[in-house]
Order: sequence, then structure tokens, then C-alpha cells
Amino acid sequence: MEWLGLHFFTELPEHGHLLLNCSHNPFLVLLAYLVACAAGFGTLDMAERVGHVEDPTARRNWRWLGAGCLAGGIWSTHFISMLAFQAPVAIHYELIMTFASLLIALIASLFAMQTLSHANLRLHQYLLASVWMGIGIALMHYVGMSAMHSQAQVYFEPGLFMASVGIAIGSSLAALLLSSYLRTGTGVFHQLLKYAASLVLGAGILSMHFTGMAAMQMIVPTGADLSLPTGNNPIQLGLSVAVITLLVIGSSVSAALADKKLQHKERDLRRVNALLSELDQARASLQQVAHYDALTSLLNRRGFNQIFAEKLAEKTASHGMMAVIFLDIDHFKRINDSLGHDAGDQLLTVLAGHIKGSVRSHADVVARFGGDEFCILISIHHRDEARHLAQRIMQQMKEPIELAGRRMVMTTSIGISLFPDDGLTCEELLKTADLALYQSKDMGRNSLNFFSSNLKTRASLELQLEEELRGALRARNQLVLFYQPIFDMKQGKVTRLEALVRWQHPQHGLLGPDRFIGIAESNGLIAELDHWVLRQACHDLSLLSDRGYTELTMSVNCSALNLARDELADEIEDALRLSGIAATRLELEVTENALMGNISSTLALLRQIRALGVSLAIDDFGTGYSSLAYLKRLPLNTLKIDRSFIQDIPKSIADIEIVQAIIGMAHTLHLQVVTEGVETQAQFELLLKHGCDFVQGYLLSPAVAANDIIGVIQGINLRDPHGGAAAKDGSSAKESSPSRDSPTSIARPIR
Ligand code: C2E
Ligand code: CA
Repeated sequence: MEWLGLHFFTELPEHGHLLLNCSHNPFLVLLAYLVACAAGFGTLDMAERVGHVEDPTARRNWRWLGAGCLAGGIWSTHFISMLAFQAPVAIHYELIMTFASLLIALIASLFAMQTLSHANLRLHQYLLASVWMGIGIALMHYVGMSAMHSQAQVYFEPGLFMASVGIAIGSSLAALLLSSYLRTGTGVFHQLLKYAASLVLGAGILSMHFTGMAAMQMIVPTGADLSLPTGNNPIQLGLSVAVITLLVIGSSVSAALADKKLQHKERDLRRVNALLSELDQARASLQQVAHYDALTSLLNRRGFNQIFAEKLAEKTASHGMMAVIFLDIDHFKRINDSLGHDAGDQLLTVLAGHIKGSVRSHADVVARFGGDEFCILISIHHRDEARHLAQRIMQQMKEPIELAGRRMVMTTSIGISLFPDDGLTCEELLKTADLALYQSKDMGRNSLNFFSSNLKTRASLELQLEEELRGALRARNQLVLFYQPIFDMKQGKVTRLEALVRWQHPQHGLLGPDRFIGIAESNGLIAELDHWVLRQACHDLSLLSDRGYTELTMSVNCSALNLARDELADEIEDALRLSGIAATRLELEVTENALMGNISSTLALLRQIRALGVSLAIDDFGTGYSSLAYLKRLPLNTLKIDRSFIQDIPKSIADIEIVQAIIGMAHTLHLQVVTEGVETQAQFELLLKHGCDFVQGYLLSPAVAANDIIGVIQGINLRDPHGGAAAKDGSSAKESSPSRDSPTSIARPIR
């Protein structure tokens, strides 16, 4: 078969001579190997780049450059090797075919680089690709051979020819596998591996060429001029080609190196950017946590203060007007205590939504200060704008809310302060709004108040009272106990007293507990105060015992805060021991909400107190949200119906029914019932009719000083039918002396 003047699989002609004394210039062979190795290295490097860059254009460019390196390298190797070939005939190279072979090399190399662009190829795909590449390289080689013109006819020995094609395919496979293996990885070892692989690839390229050359048989006609050509300097040409090729490959490798560094830098930069944006996000979420309330997503106090300061600076500069509106949900604690914190949270979320819905969305600032306290900041032109907004919120708050299967209607107390009238700094404005809120609460809640200067006077008075109360507790000569008798309906006489504390203030006179219990509670003084009351009441009871009142029992009020102290049981025990009073003569009154607060820990303390023999009463019953299930679990003895249920009796049929129901329920739970605040005869009669066990109220007597209590007890008892004797002492007792057969006739006020 003859192809492009070359003979494949053809018998050698009978005429002519076979050139045997052909040789290769070893320097040029070495040069060719060097170029082949450089081409191998360049290809591996470019393949690595193709694998690493993400930009498709850059990828394409690297593919082309890689193909250029490989094609240039293979072709130069072939060209220099041909220059190294020395035969005793004159040889010329045809330019077109030489360039055709270069083009073929380029196509095969492009194909190789294209194959290497795919990240994960299977082995059979590598095999197929290397077959095509190998054929391409072989084609380049033999097309290159066809460019060689001389007197000789060129024949190829079939075995070696096939071996050369095989080597081309094998080298291609090795190149592809090594390239994809070395595409990833860094470090010195990786670099060394690349060098070693380049040497192997170079050897592959070169051995393909020389196997092809070994297959070549040159037949010259008989009588041809067989002399070694002179004049040409193949070494010079070979060197030039090698230098150009190495320069091209070297610059490509340098470009790849630079790109690699650039890419690393870019990656580092991207990582830094990613880190920075992560930091930004972290800062933003920290900001969110630091400045916003997690439950309602409203601003918290800190966030509010920041915005408040900015707005205040604006308003000060523009001589504008602003209102600070403080909001407090009335009796929110009861919800928390009785329905649990989850229900409380749910309620707060709904109420926060109501508040947000009532304000002008962007201009106004709404914050939750914790608990059930909210604060709104609005820009205004007239105080009425603040009033209207507050009224709108109060109205909105009254919308019924479904909570834990109940329908709730909440009310709000509001306090408003105005900039610049009520304060020039954030602190002043918050304080004055707080004072106004305090005023609203004091007025029975569900109301709104603007700050006024007399509130400030009152606030400073409170502060002074707090200090004076500390002094009074230390000095122990200003606090006094008053006693209010509790009338036993069955026995018809006073069998109990309630100890009610008073403060004999040097300037303000006798102060009721409403003026100072709150102050004591909010300033950590209540434990001391209640402890004093307990010991004093026990002491007074022991004095009463000495006067013959050995059956009288004493009720002492206990603050909810005190119920959280484990020492309480020990204090009670000490007070009883010191006074020598039997534990059964003491009763502790605890409000409904105090009991419902932290039921499990309270329960343990209450059991401890009960174990001493001391009775327990639930005070102000009906004002909280206690559940019957809880009530059943508590070790109670007495239930005190709150005054508010009695007030409108007998006018209010509903209240009569409620009181009747409470008495029935208490008796079912084996609790004795005391009704507080009995002021009229009609109330007394009604309670008697419905089986109330005890009554307490102004009808019988208000709380009186310890010195007066015996007279009061006697007065009541003398008027009682079961008390026996008619009044012997005291004109007032005589005046109101009851007839023996009318138990209700005693029920007229003594004082
Ligand atoms: P409380 O336990 O509900 O006490 C009953 C209050 O109702 C007493 O007011 C009593 O004077 C008043 N009261 C009694 N009968 C009538 C009536 O017929 N009509 C009217 N309108 N009021 C009546 P006081 O003494 O001002 O005590 C107020 C609250 O202060 C008490 O309510 C109690 O919760 C608390 N308190 C009193 N003394 C102490 C104490 O020593 N420690 C503690 N922690 N709290 C105390
Ligand atoms: Ca009480």
C-alpha cells in the first residue's frame, strides 16, 4: 500500500539498495527528548489549569494553550529527531506536508485537552480517547515522514510500524491518565511526580518516533549517489526549533504558574470575603439579639434607648415635640401565675401585635422593656395626638383574646411624658412617663395619665418613704400592729383576729399598709417586715392568752415574695416557741396569686408549715385565676372571700350566686370560709343564710390598736346571742347591744 509516497505493508522492490548506514545525531536526539519532556510537563500543567479554573473562557484559553504546547512539543520532537537522522542521501523537506503534520498534531492535542476537560472519565473513555490521540500522533508522524524527499523510496516494516502506532496510543493513554491523576494536589511531592511523569511522557513521544524510524527502510536505486550531504547544519536548525519550542512551552508554564498564584489569591480573597460576610451576618444577628426582644420581635430596652437618643437629638435640634408612652398590661402576672408562662408569652405576642397595629408603622418606635411593660415613642405637634394614640391602644387592647381555652379581656395602664415639657434627657422622660404610669395604676388601672409635676413630688416622697421604712424597721418603734376581729357565725363570738400592720410615721401620721407594703416588697424589705409582724402578733396573742383569751387564733398576712423563702417555716417555728403559742392558734394568710405562682416549690414549703400545725388561709379569693385542681392539692384550711364580691350584695344577684357557689365549693373541699369586708346588716344576714363560717368587716369592727382589741372583742361578744351576758361595760357596746334571740342584730358597727 502506497500512501503519500510512503509504502506500508508492501514487499521491498527487487531492484535497488537498502540503505543500511543510517544514523542519528545523539545531541539532537537528546535535544528532542528534552523538548518531548518539556511538552509533557507543559501538557500536565495546562491540564491542571483546565481542571482548576471555573470561568469557561479561561478554560477554553488554557485548553488552546495546552494543545499548543503539546502539539508544538510533539511536532518539534519529531522535527528535531528528523534533523538528527543522518542518511547517505540528500534529503529535502516539503514545507506543506511539514505544516500539515503540525496541523494534525494540533488537532490531536486539542482532542487530548478536550478529553482532559472532563473531570471524571471512565477507563473505557480514556481508552477510546487515547486510541484517537495515538492515531492522530502517528498520523502526524507519518505525514511528517512524507514531507521527506530524497532519491530513496521509503518502505515501512509492518511489525515495527504497528508497534509505533501502539506506542503512540500507549503514550497517549499514559498522558491522559497521568494528567487526570496529577490534576489535583499540591506540594513538593506532587511537583516531583509531575517531573517524573514528564520524563515518562517524553520517553513515550520519542520512542514512538524512533520505533517509526526503525520501521523505515530506505531503498535507493542502483547507482545512486550515496554520499553524506554537506552544507546543511541540522544542529543549528534543531537548536533553533528546540529553543523556540522551549520558549513557547516555558512561557505557557510561567503563565500557568502566574495564573495559579492569581487563582490562589482570588480564592483567598473569596475566602476572606466569605469570612467577612459571615462576620457581618454574625454581627447582624448579635445586633438583633442585643437590640430586639426575641418573643415579640419588638425593640428591647437597649435598642429603644439607642433610637431614643438619636430621635431626641433630632428633636432638640429642630425644636420638635415628642411623647414617650409607657404601657403596662393590667394584672398580667395573674395570667402568668395561673395559666403558665407559655400562655403568658402567647398573650404578650398578641398584645404586642395590637400595639404595633395601633401606631403609625415607620415613624413610631415600639419597644418591649421586659415583662408586660411596653414603651412607644412618637413625634407629635400637640399633646392630644399622644392621648388619641393611647386611647386607640387601650381600645385595641380590650379586644377579647382566646387563650388556653379561655376568652380573656385585658386592659392597659398608660403613662405619658412629653418632650420638652416633662424632661430634656432620655432618663428624665422615661422616669416621668413611668411616674405617670404609676399614677394610672394607682387610680385602679385601665386608665391613662400625663405626667404632672405633683407626680414628681410624690415620687420623691416614695423614695423618702423607702429610706424611712428602712429606718423604722431598724428602730422597731414606729411599726404597730392593729387587729381586726373575725366573727364566728356558729359560735356567735369573735374567735379569730387578723393582724394588720400600720406605720406610725413621725410626720405623716398613721399610714396604712397600702402606703408601704409595696415599697417594702420592691426594695427587699418585706421579709424583715413580715417577720417582725409574725413575732409581734404571736407576742400579742400570748398577752391575750394571759388575759383569758386562750382560744383566740391569730391570722397573719404573708407576702407572696416571702413564700419563696425556705427560712419561713423556721421563722414561724421560732416565733411560736418564743411566744409559747400553740401552732394551732396561728394561721398564715397567703393570696391566691402567691399560691399559684410557683406551685411545686410553694407546695413543699406550705406542707412544712402545715406540718408544724399552723393553719393556712387563701386570702382575697376570687381576685386571681386559681384553678380548682390546684386548690385541691394545697394543704389549706381556710378560704377568705374577697371584699369585692360582697360590696354589691344584696343588690347584685350575680354576686350573691358567686358567693354562694364559693361557699359551697369551699365546703366541698373541707375549707372554712371567711368573708372579708362585711359592712352591712344585709350582707351579714345573707352570709349567715348561705352558711358562711366567719365574717370580718367594718360592720363588726375595723382593725384596732392592740390595746383596744379586748374592748372590741367584748363589745361584739356581749351583743351576740350565743355570747350569753348582756353588755356590762362600754357605752357603745350597750348602745348596740343585740337582743338574745336575734343573731343578726349584733351586726351593727361599733365604731
Ligand atoms: P387584706 O389581707 O385583704 O386585709 C384586709 C383589708 O381590708 C385590711 O386593710 C382591712 O382593714 C380592710 N377591711 C376590713 N374590713 C373592711 C371593710 O368592711 N370594708 C373595707 N373597705 N375594708 C375592710 P388594711 O389593713 O389596709 O390592709 C390592706 C392589705 O395590706 C391587706 O389586705 C394585706 O394584704 C396587706 N397587709 C396588711 N398587713 C400586712 C402584713 O403584716 N404583711 C403583709 N405582707 N401584708 C399586710
Ligand atoms: Ca389578709
